[in-house]
Amino acid sequence: MILPKLIEEARILSHKAPIAGVDILTLAAPLIARSALPGQFVQISVPADAGFLRRPLGIAEVSRTEGWIRLIYRQVGRGTEGLASAETGTSVSVLGPLGRGFYTGLEHPLLVGGGMGLTPLLFFAAEHSNTSVLMGGRTREEVFWEEIYRPHVRECFVTTDDGSYGTQGFVTTLLPKLLKDDAYDGVAVCGPPVMMERVAAIAAEYGVPCEVSLEKRMACGLGACLSCAVDTKSGRRKVCKDGPVFPAGEVYYAS
Ligand SMILES: Cc1cc2nc3c(=O)[nH]c(=O)nc-3n(C[C@H](O)[C@H](O)[C@H](O)COP(=O)(O)OP(=O)(O)OC[C@H]3O[C@@H](n4cnc5c(N)ncnc54)[C@H](O)[C@@H]3O)c2cc1C
Repeated sequence: MILPKLIEEARILSHKAPIAGVDILTLAAPLIARSALPGQFVQISVPADAGFLRRPLGIAEVSRTEGWIRLIYRQVGRGTEGLASAETGTSVSVLGPLGRGFYTGLEHPLLVGGGMGLTPLLFFAAEHSNTSVLMGGRTREEVFWEEIYRPHVRECFVTTDDGSYGTQGFVTTLLPKLLKDDAYDGVAVCGPPVMMERVAAIAAEYGVPCEVSLEKRMACGLGACLSCAVDTKSGRRKVCKDGPVFPAGEVYYAS
């Protein structure tokens, strides 16, 4: 049983808020930093809330040499708000790295993300020397990600729903042109289910392999409680253990 090795009491090194309601949390967690792979996630405890279930958050970045991991999350409820108010210098319990991540052995992957779905894709970009990213958000403010991604990617394409920045529309507005013009040999996508479904359909149309990262409410994160089970075309799967990353063609998006 390797579980005890994967739980770290991680000191909070910093909190940063790129926009209101979003927190970039950096934690000292050398064991997790050393072994984490792009697309994996952690289950993090909420301080001052003993007995409360851990919350799943994607790993956004790691430094294997300095021994830290970075999480980027939106405050949506009790757990994430509690985490954002935890003081720098205190510790939180982190279980991970968990799940199956993205296939990264591609020449030139296109990462497609919307909203907080850009979190696990950032780790992919940081670990791979030749990625491009297509990101979408509702407004200019919501694509604060561009600045974070720039040092890690070859090209950065941005869409906003309201046209306040980049191309007006959704990521699917630009995607056909990118897949037609350029030599991407894979697409990795994370975001709202409807976005992933449409991206997967376009990738299939252009014959480009595609992986999607699913989000499902979960309890244990270890494959035991079955609360995150989903039906796929090859049978019932657990998002926490068999995923969160799945081949796009395996998934029923409406479920
Ligand atoms: C594998 C995985 C990775 C994730 N990575 C990130 C990440 O990198 N950044 C990020 O901001 N969020 C991420 N999430 C979502 C995050 O786990 C939830 O937002 C968080 O658990 C909410 O906890 P809470 O106590 O603050 O909110 P709650 O009070 O539990 O819920 C508040 C609202 O959020 C919704 N919600 C709660 N959990 C989920 C969930 N798992 N999926 C969808 N909706 C949910 C609830 O239905 C409710 O509307 C991830 C989820 C999974 C399963």
